[in-house]
Amino acid sequence: MFLVFMMLLVPLTACGSSSKSSGDVKKYTVATDSNFKPFEYLNPITGELEGFDIDIIKEIAKRAEFEVEFETMDFDGLLAGMQSGRYPIGVAGMSITEKRKESIDFSIPYYDSGLILMVPENSNIQSIDDVSRKKIGSRQGSTSQTYLKEFTSAKVEAFPEIVTAYLDVKEGRLDGALYDLPNVKNYIATEGENKLKTVGEVLQGESYGIAFSKGSEIVDDANKALQSMIDDGTYAELFEKYFGEPPADKWLGKEH
Ligand code: GLN
Repeated sequence: MFLVFMMLLVPLTACGSSSKSSGDVKKYTVATDSNFKPFEYLNPITGELEGFDIDIIKEIAKRAEFEVEFETMDFDGLLAGMQSGRYPIGVAGMSITEKRKESIDFSIPYYDSGLILMVPENSNIQSIDDVSRKKIGSRQGSTSQTYLKEFTSAKVEAFPEIVTAYLDVKEGRLDGALYDLPNVKNYIATEGENKLKTVGEVLQGESYGIAFSKGSEIVDDANKALQSMIDDGTYAELFEKYFGEPPADKWLGKEH
């Protein structure tokens, strides 16, 4: 099941140097994840799509003068859709990997992430070295699913939605879950009920990039827009809005 969100971005024709009329403005479908907090998720009250990634791509579209329309889906469907060229743009806290770069073009990195192990509060698992033969949850198509399969001998259970794995850990059906640090931290803080904790080091540094269909003509303009958002402090503002703290120095912009 997926939901379609329409959003029109009115191009800035009233002022500035742009000579484009609204008729020239292209509209692109942006494939996005249905639930990867705080990067993209549905506001439970308004039903609106929200998140760091959503604000970022809306601002990029405004600066690069195109319109976007969102379509939400599970992550593995999004990945397949990007790889086959079905969608022109994808935002999903997607980690830039060499393998994915073979079939997807990425923007410059916009967030530094990594993988972390989550276990029940009373677990004696202390790090990734202790997961042998344990039931560890992850998400289909994700970098952590690949990590578990390649580097551990855990019994991996991968779900379409990562929250299914988190709930199973909380309720004792799984021994742990491996996933992206900001998403794990968000879940523990908002829905952990003091029953969950992270253990061990952050594994495998990963950077998120906006995905574009291979050979896309939008990448250069999107990168310029993204860089201008970093330089003028807009990126830092959005970061603070969703993560409650300023980003690392390198994202703070020139005016800082
Ligand atoms: N960053 C992870 C990946 O790219 C997970 C992304 C997600 O669940 N939206 O595989």
